[in-house]
Amino acid sequence: MNRSGLNKALTSTKLNATPFRPSIADVKRWTDVLNFIMFEGKSLKWGRIQVRPMRDFAWSVPYFDGRNKRRCELHIRNRFKSFSMFYSVLCHELLHLAEYHELGTINHGDFFYSHREMLAKIGIKLQARYEDIQPNRKKIAAKVKKKAKHKA
Ligand SMILES: [Zn+2]
Repeated sequence: MNRSGLNKALTSTKLNATPFRPSIADVKRWTDVLNFIMFEGKSLKWGRIQVRPMRDFAWSVPYFDGRNKRRCELHIRNRFKSFSMFYSVLCHELLHLAEYHELGTINHGDFFYSHREMLAKIGIKLQARYEDIQPNRKKIAAKVKKKAKHKA
């Protein structure tokens, strides 16, 4: 898939109006696509992949394998509100994998944000944190707080 094909997928209303439930095969396939787009085909792979129900969107868990090589285990949700949400989160985690391989660190620093412009070109807004399924949750929480203050 080329960049414009990917752009189409990311902005497809049909794909993004329905929840996306990734399989391990989906994670592997889209990791390969992202490798191609983000790192010129460098083949970064997850040491282990777990797709499961979880509160957070995903974790990258670093470890050393039997040969003392840096590896990362990916834990990722089994349900996203849309395909583009899944894809953006996978992008985020793949940056952690790349940083861990190259520098031995995982954070939301210079390495992470140095990919922001390139990702914006393919329609992905790189964020350190993602909003939960309910986009108005923060607004609602703020309203509730305000009301409580007025009462007091
Ligand atoms: Zn992160």
